[in-house]
Order: sequence, then C-alpha cells, then structure tokens
Amino acid sequence: MSKLWDVIICGAGLGGSYAAEVLAEKGFATLLLEKYSLPRYKACGGGVTQEFVDEARLPESIIERSIEYLVLHHLDHQTYEKEGKGACLWRADLDSFFTRQAMDAGAELKEREQVVAAHQEDGIFYVQTPEHKFQARMLIAADGVTSTVLRCFGWNRFRPDEVAQTVTHEIKLGEKTIAQRFGDQHLHLYFGHDISPIGYGWVFPKRETVSVGLGCRLSNTKNLKLAFDNFLRRLKNQLAGGKVVHRVAHMLPAALRQEFGKGGLLAVGDAAGLVDPLSGKGIPYSVTSGRIAAETAAYALETGTIDHAASKYHSALKEENILDGLQAKREIQEDVYRTEENIHRYLKLWLTNRATVIASSLWHNT
Ligand SMILES: Cc1cc2nc3c(=O)[nH]c(=O)nc-3n(C[C@H](O)[C@H](O)[C@H](O)COP(=O)(O)OP(=O)(O)OC[C@H]3O[C@@H](n4cnc5c(N)ncnc54)[C@H](O)[C@@H]3O)c2cc1C
Repeated sequence: MSKLWDVIICGAGLGGSYAAEVLAEKGFATLLLEKYSLPRYKACGGGVTQEFVDEARLPESIIERSIEYLVLHHLDHQTYEKEGKGACLWRADLDSFFTRQAMDAGAELKEREQVVAAHQEDGIFYVQTPEHKFQARMLIAADGVTSTVLRCFGWNRFRPDEVAQTVTHEIKLGEKTIAQRFGDQHLHLYFGHDISPIGYGWVFPKRETVSVGLGCRLSNTKNLKLAFDNFLRRLKNQLAGGKVVHRVAHMLPAALRQEFGKGGLLAVGDAAGLVDPLSGKGIPYSVTSGRIAAETAAYALETGTIDHAASKYHSALKEENILDGLQAKREIQEDVYRTEENIHRYLKLWLTNRATVIASSLWHNT
C-alpha cells in the first residue's frame, strides 16, 4: 500500500500550489499532483494588482511590465482611463514561483500525473492517475474550470451560462513598439456588443509580447472565432508586424459553485467558480481560497473534524467576504451588458468605484 498522505492537492496552479505551501509549512504530509511538466503555459492575461504583487512578495524578475493605467474602450470610440497600479506577468513564471515555494516548504510535487479518477472509501480518499494510485485523509480539488476531481464526486460541469469561452493570441511586437502603440504602462479593455455580447476584448502587455484576447459567456457565444477575427481587424494597425507565438482557447468560470466541498474534499480557485464574473479576475481568488482551504484542512486534521471541513470552509469563504461580492457581480452581469448604454454606465461608475461596491449598491441605487 502506498504512503497515506495528510492531504493530496490535485492541480499545481496558483490555488493548489499556495494551499500546498500553507499545509507543508504547518508540517502536514502534502502531495501536489500536476498533469503537465512545469513550467507550463496557461492562457491568462496575467494582470495583477500592486496589492497582489506586494502581498505575494513577487520578485522583480517575473514582473514583465509594470502597469499604471487601465484604458476602457467602447466601440463607439468613447474611451475611459483610470489609474490602476499593478503588473503583467507570464503565468508560467508566476505559478512556478508559487510551486517552488510549496516545495521549499516541504510539499512533494509529482508532475505528469493527470488525475483520472478519485473516490472515498472508509474515510480515505483514493486518487488515480494513469500509472499510480495515491491515498490521503483529505483532498483538495485545484484542477481548474473543468475539474476532474469534482466530477468524480458528482459535481456537474459548469452550465454554458456559468462559464465564459475565451480565445487568446500571444503576439510578439517588441518592447518599444508596444510602448509606442499601446502606451508604456497601459492595460486595454474593449467593450461593446459587436465585440462580445457578455464579455470583452483585451490587450495585456508583457515585455516583448501582448496577450490579445476575447471572452464571451458561452451561452451567448455564436461564433467566437469570427468575433475574434473582427477584433483583431479593429486592432490591425497597432498589431501590424506582430508575430503570433501562441494561440489558445480556454474556459473561465463566471458563476460560483453551489457547494465548495463535501466532508474532507475542498474545491479552490476556478474549480470552485471563484472568479469575478464581470472582469474575469481569478488570480487573487485562487490564492486566497487556496490559503483558506489549507487552513481549514489543517484545523480539521488537528481536531479530528474532517467530516465538517467543507461546511467550515464555506463559512470561512463567507467570513472573508469573498462569496457575497462575487455573487453580487454575478447578479448584475446580465444587466450591465444588456444595452450599450448600460455598458457605458458601468464603465463610468468603474472609473471611480470598486467593482464590488458598484455591484452591491451603486448599480441598484444610482
Ligand atoms: C484567457 C484568460 C485570461 C485571464 N486573465 C486573467 C487576468 O489577467 N487576471 C486574473 O486575475 N485572472 C485572469 N484569468 C483567470 C485566472 O487565470 C484563473 O482564475 C486562475 O488561473 C485560477 O487558478 P487555479 O489555480 O484555480 O486554476 P488553474 O490556473 O487552471 O490551475 C489548475 C492546474 O491544475 C492542473 N490540472 C488540471 N486538471 C488536472 C488533472 N486532472 N490532474 C492533475 N492536474 C490537473 C492544470 O494543469 C493546472 O496547472 C484569466 C483566465 C483566462 C482563461
């Protein structure tokens, strides 16, 4: 029989890696399973706030570009610009930084181990990869939007109205050209029904490359490829001479799960639907939920209350004010995108207010 781990974490993205670090630091036998070899490419704008950069103590070397401004374009040529300190980085670098910290803290990483099945028997979780079987007292699903682990335990896939479909091109333009055409420290978001009926397009600049992408709620997507081609055509002067170095399609949750775990099984990050449905921001939620899941698991293992871990985790997510804000954004999402006027109204409010405040009060009261 293989080793009995305290916790197995499936998925070495940000949520999984940070959960592994917190658990290993507390001395728990922690196994992190990842289906790819690391570092792996991950479709993502890689945009983070300065607050995130500071809290995670990210090294200078992985900051691809510092950001000072967010430029919100509407198709009718109206443009809004707001200050927003942050950074753009490659997810391969960011995730590796987190995974390395987990390993330094004592977690064991096994790469090229794709979880294909999982079940619980007599209180023990069994996790199966094509060649190996692992066992643990608790299990954390950090395997992203299509979570295999959650499906093994009876969760449905997200419905088409609960996810966004995205397409991204990484386009190499060169550092100076990016600064000349898009600004030195600017993130660009593009709104309007001709771009996306519920979603938006974006240009997130790295050092030499821009991530150009488009997202739309899957249930409202007719022909994303065509919409993306049109979007690229709108930007053709700014992208002229660029070389596409990567093309990828990926889904992104736009709704919370009903449940975030069951007994000793906890779900974090995209697997749990912990993504801002208005902006698509998921990086901070994956890290925060990874920490909360790890703290919950540690408490449950120490006190012998594993069966109650999921309900404690749900309460902790609520207490840290994560769920209400995301739910409020989900509730106004459709209305924000209902008309071009509503989109303008949202963008104007966003210039001077946090999205959570807009969703929980201003959208209804102004
Ligand atoms: C196009 C796009 C742009 C985005 N831009 C931004 C942005 O600019 N800023 C922001 O904050 N958020 C952004 N997001 C959201 C953000 O990328 C996610 O919310 C975040 O990556 C979630 O982290 P996670 O750890 O939960 O999941 P993931 O990052 O998806 O990590 C899951 C990990 O699990 C592994 N895995 C999957 N299945 C298995 C399996 N069966 N067995 C073992 N391992 C498995 C995967 O390989 C991966 O390493 C964007 C998302 C998309 C799609």
